[in-house]
Amino acid sequence: MKFRIKPITRLSIIFILAIVLSGSILTYFSINNISNLKELIEKRIIEEQRELYAEFSAALQNKLDIITTGLENGEDQPGVIKDSLLNRSLESDYIIQTFILNKTGKFVYPRFERIPEGFQIPLFSERFRTTYIEGEKAEFAEKDFRVAENYYLACLQNSTGSKDSVKALNALGRVAIKQNDERNAFSFYKLIVSDYFSESDAYGYPYVYYAMPQLLKITGVDNSEELASLIRFSLEQMNFGLIPLNYSTGDLLSAITDWLKEAAPISAEQLSHVNRLIESLDKQIQFVNIYGDELKEITEQSNQNSYYSTDNDFKIINSYSGDNHEFFLVNTDLYYTGGFLINLNNLFDTLVTEDLREGFDFNYVIEFPDDYILEDNNQSLVYSSQLNPYFPGQLIRIRLADEDLINDIVKRRSWIYGIASLLLLVAMVLGVALILRDIAREKHLARMRADFISNVTHELKTPLTSIRMYAESIMMGRVKSQTVRNDYLSVVVNESERLKRMINNILEFSKMEKRKQEYHPFKTNLSDILHKAISDMNYWLEEKGFKLKTDIDRDIAVEVDPEKFHQVYTNLLSNAIKYSGESKIISIRLFRNSKEVITEFEDKGIGIAIEHMEKIFEEFYRVERPESGDITGTGLGLTVAKEIVEAHGGEIYAESELGIGSKFIVRIPFVGD
Ligand code: ADP
Repeated sequence: MKFRIKPITRLSIIFILAIVLSGSILTYFSINNISNLKELIEKRIIEEQRELYAEFSAALQNKLDIITTGLENGEDQPGVIKDSLLNRSLESDYIIQTFILNKTGKFVYPRFERIPEGFQIPLFSERFRTTYIEGEKAEFAEKDFRVAENYYLACLQNSTGSKDSVKALNALGRVAIKQNDERNAFSFYKLIVSDYFSESDAYGYPYVYYAMPQLLKITGVDNSEELASLIRFSLEQMNFGLIPLNYSTGDLLSAITDWLKEAAPISAEQLSHVNRLIESLDKQIQFVNIYGDELKEITEQSNQNSYYSTDNDFKIINSYSGDNHEFFLVNTDLYYTGGFLINLNNLFDTLVTEDLREGFDFNYVIEFPDDYILEDNNQSLVYSSQLNPYFPGQLIRIRLADEDLINDIVKRRSWIYGIASLLLLVAMVLGVALILRDIAREKHLARMRADFISNVTHELKTPLTSIRMYAESIMMGRVKSQTVRNDYLSVVVNESERLKRMINNILEFSKMEKRKQEYHPFKTNLSDILHKAISDMNYWLEEKGFKLKTDIDRDIAVEVDPEKFHQVYTNLLSNAIKYSGESKIISIRLFRNSKEVITEFEDKGIGIAIEHMEKIFEEFYRVERPESGDITGTGLGLTVAKEIVEAHGGEIYAESELGIGSKFIVRIPFVGD
């Protein structure tokens, strides 16, 4: 025999192969993907680090350009250059100090004067000079302070310019102190600070430096607020370069700090302002001390420290005086030498936080190590390189913010792929199992249908044979006796009834399959239907010698399709007859409770084994029992009965024991009148 695969099976095999094949391919690729993933991420990181480096370098360049572009030269006006430079330095914490030096290397800003700078013969009038000498004689030789005061007052009256006035005021303050006249001393010194702050003595020493320490010593006058204002005013002038700084500035600042600690409380606003000014001046003094000589060399072009020029003629010079994170950005081509001291670390911080690191896949840390060790970028995933030609000794190092990043990603991805593959596998197995089950079910059904055909044929043949035999006998006049003829006719009628019942079941089942069943329910007395079914089957009951016990409630009116229910009852009764075997007792009960109407068909026949109980209601299902002889049937009787009962909202089930008998129970809901 040739082996043939049915089309449906063939299709299923192709389908299974497709699932398994595509599943395997997907799994293979996902495993492959994971192993490539690490490499891909590493490649991307190296790319991004290069991009970040380029961006950083460009941003640095840009920053330097911004600082140095568009500054005003101001020719011989240091004020213009200073303002221009100072504006640039505002609000940028990487510019530590702005500076201007003249061509001889003397500081113009911060304005610092190293005294003595050279003695200048003052141009006092003769009258002022002689009166002043008299005053000094009285003050120092004779110690007659009142007389001295008068001479000095005369000087003040005779002064021809501010140089005279401030000198006289200073002498007046001095003798007032010597006379313990603090009130007058305060007024004289106050005038010096407020009106003559820019005046210096013959040695270039500003009078403010005489006046301020004296003012700070005066304690007997209630003048804290006023003095605080004077301090603030003078510090502002120093800060802006109108009062020069010198080697005594440091002492003056610490005297002011001490005074602030001891003085009667001054306003918080005033205090913070003064403190800020002191801080700034301290910085300026320090700056001059540390970088003065170096900047002088730069101005004189004698500094050989390597430097690079920016586009705007500014030179970048690494400072040797400060720490190695500082550099000068200086222009020696201006009328005055001007520029900035810049802290490289602060500049980096600004660049890193302000301008960079957007649009990158991963987070990086940018570092500027002190050492100069280049790492193998590909090995460690740390990118290091020279920062920029401007800063040849400075490295930039870019590394991942999260060192475990790659492992984490790979792990997470592996989990996702793992779970997805597992799900795929489960789906595949499930799919295959479902297909196999369907195939098995299809096969089973096909076999049942085949059995059904042969069963039906057999079922049709028996009654048809009897009908034909009895009808022929009558037709040929072989039966003479009327009673026998009537018996024959009754066989013909009942056999054809049996045929009709069978055909009805087949028709009903066919409608069921096409979902075209029709029900016409109306209020019916169920006992009438049951009696009709019993009387229709009466011939067979008597014929086979059955004893029928009935317990039927009359007047149970329910809404059912009478024809369909008749079919249910005859199916159940004919089964009870068919499967009764030797026992010939059938009991039928019809009764109701408050909720349901119950019909029971009980026989003492061959019974049903437990493993078939569930299945007997399935289409075409028949229990094979060679031991009980050949009982024919289509396997549709119970299927049709179940369909009809359930369509009426009821249920049908069996209770049975093999060899003892069976009971079929129909329950339908009862709706009271
Ligand atoms: P069939 O045409 O085979 O009688 P049914 O659907 O009416 O088909 O019944 C299905 C199967 O249930 C039968 O083959 C039979 O084995 C079993 N069966 C039905 N009624 C009884 C009963 N009263 N006693 C024992 N077995 C029964």
